[in-house]
This record gives sequence, C-alpha cells and structure tokens, in this order.
Amino acid sequence: MKAPAFNYARASSVQEAIDLLSRHGDRAKVLSGGQSLMPALNLRLLAPEWLIDIGPIADLRRISVENGLLTIGASTRHADLQRSPDIAAHAPLLKDAIAHVAHPAIRNRGTIGGSLAHADPASELPACMVALDATVIVQGPDGERRIPAADFFVGIYETQLLPDELLVAIEVPKRTDGARHFFREYARRSGDYAMAGLAAEAEIDGDMFASLRLSFFAVDERPILAKASRHLIGRPVTEVMLAEACGALGDELAPQDDHQATIGMRHYLARQLLIACVVSLLGRSDLGARVVA
Ligand SMILES: Cc1cc2nc3c(=O)[nH]c(=O)nc-3n(C[C@H](O)[C@H](O)[C@H](O)COP(=O)(O)OP(=O)(O)OC[C@H]3O[C@@H](n4cnc5c(N)ncnc54)[C@H](O)[C@@H]3O)c2cc1C
Repeated sequence: MKAPAFNYARASSVQEAIDLLSRHGDRAKVLSGGQSLMPALNLRLLAPEWLIDIGPIADLRRISVENGLLTIGASTRHADLQRSPDIAAHAPLLKDAIAHVAHPAIRNRGTIGGSLAHADPASELPACMVALDATVIVQGPDGERRIPAADFFVGIYETQLLPDELLVAIEVPKRTDGARHFFREYARRSGDYAMAGLAAEAEIDGDMFASLRLSFFAVDERPILAKASRHLIGRPVTEVMLAEACGALGDELAPQDDHQATIGMRHYLARQLLIACVVSLLGRSDLGARVVA
C-alpha cells in the first residue's frame, strides 16, 4: 500500500520545527528516520496532514560528554550510537542493546529520538534509558521540559510528549567506575522485536548489589523499572532472596498475549531474565541452578 497524501515541510532549526508543530498541532507528525512512521503511513494506520522533517537540523545529531553526562541529540542514528567510542566507554549498555534493534539498514536511518517518541513497549532503547536513569529533554512553544525516562513512557506508543513538542536530546549519566550492566532479550529471530527483555545497570560492592536498576521490556505496556530489585540489594544474594525477587516480579508485570508469546510464557521469560541477570552481574553461577522460576 502507499501512504495517504500529506503535506511536507522541512525544518532547518529546532525553533522552526516547534513553530510548524504549534501551527499544525495534532494534524502533524515529526519525520525523523522514518523507520516506524513510514511503515505506519503505508499501512494506513496513520494519516497526518503534515509531515515535519527534522532531518536537516544538524544540531540534533550529536553525542557529547560533559560534567559527568552524555548528551545524545534526538536525531543521532542507531548506527552512530553503535560506532561511538563515548557510548562504548560511558554507556556500554546502549552499545550492547543497539545490536538487537532491527537490522543494519534500519539502524542506518532510525534515530534514538524516534525510538523513544514512538514508545513501542517491545523496543530496546526506551528500556535502556529507564535502566540508565536518563533524562528526556523536550522543547515546545513554552520552553524546555526535562522528564525522567522512568516517567516519560506512559503506555503503548504513548509518552508525555505533547503534539507541539519536539524531543531534542537525552541526557545519560556517565557510568561510575565499577558499574556493571546486563542486556538480554528473547526474540524469535535476530532483529525481531523482543518477546521479553531486560536492560539492567548495577553498582556492586564486594558480593552485594549497592544499587540495581532492572528495566523489563515487552512484558507490559511500557518499560517497567522493577521494584523486585529491593529483594536483592544490600545483602549477599541467596537462592531464597532470588526466589523472592522472582515471585515479586510476577505482581509487577502485566504482559499481553499476542502471536509471539502467551502471558504465561512472558512471565516465565521475565523470571529467567532476572535469574540470568543476577548470575551474570555477580558472577555467581551457583545461584541460578536451584531457583525454580
Ligand atoms: C522491519 C523493522 C524492524 C524493526 N525492529 C525494531 C526492533 O527490533 N527494535 C526497535 O526498537 N525498533 C525496531 N524498529 C523501529 C526502528 O528502530 C525505528 O528506527 C525507530 O522506532 C524510530 O526511529 P525513526 O528515527 O525511524 O523514527 P520515525 O519513524 O521517523 O518516527 C517514529 C515516531 O516518533 C516521532 N518522532 C520521531 N522523532 C521525533 C522527535 N525528535 N520528537 C518528537 N517526535 C518524534 C514521529 O512523529 C513518529 O510518531 C524496526 C523497524 C522496522 C521497519
């Protein structure tokens, strides 16, 4: 199928994009890499009157490191993140996760801002931003808003972005010395959206977790920062603690049934991910074997 007819405007600055969005409101859609928007138009799932192309805004495609923060412009492409030495050094969780986002052709065009604004619950990057305690920066006619990633995602394809706002950047705290991360997903084929996934970032003190952010995806309407981590922090982890965390996790997730996996299977996969994460981060292969998930 072909996309329905639309008007097209190229914005050459953030201000121009915001002016266009203010003028056209929810009759307009921002066009970034087009890797989610164009299929949606071609399938006639959306029919905006206007597409506002932010591709020409060079300032939005950048990665910088300053004052303990990585700042990633919204139009930074997945492939840019994959190749960036700054991402590898200061947010290696992102580097690991990107390899699971679609295929090279899509990673060459798709952008981080598009991925976060699109807010597919099975998407890798929103979950990573929650695990990394990132801040999403948006700009609209009334100025800038800074939104913690954990609050930004509201539901399936739903965020706190208003129709006249542009996502401009994401700030990610540089990882501390000794921090560790874990990323894994279950997908039917390489490059497919996940059936269940986990992005985690931890600080480890000896044989204990000093902090642990567990961000599950594809098992709810949005990435879930699991409170089950409370069962695992501040004491050497035992099998009993891990089993309690697995039990608590079940109450926090509300997965959906679809053609890829049942609700029960998604719960099971989430528990397996939690066990694998703890075993991997603590280097405790003894732990997982006897926990029945
Ligand atoms: C075959 C296929 C497989 C895929 N597999 C995966 C996968 O495994 N994991 C995954 O995460 N993604 C996957 N994707 C999606 C891909 O990663 C997209 O690149 C990404 O979701 C959107 O980025 P984009 O720049 O292309 O955004 P676009 O398609 O241009 O836009 C997506 C949405 O975000 C809005 N938007 C874009 N940028 C902004 C902004 N700066 N401010 C406000 N709103 C904005 C648009 O209006 C639109 O609603 C897949 C896509 C395809 C076609």
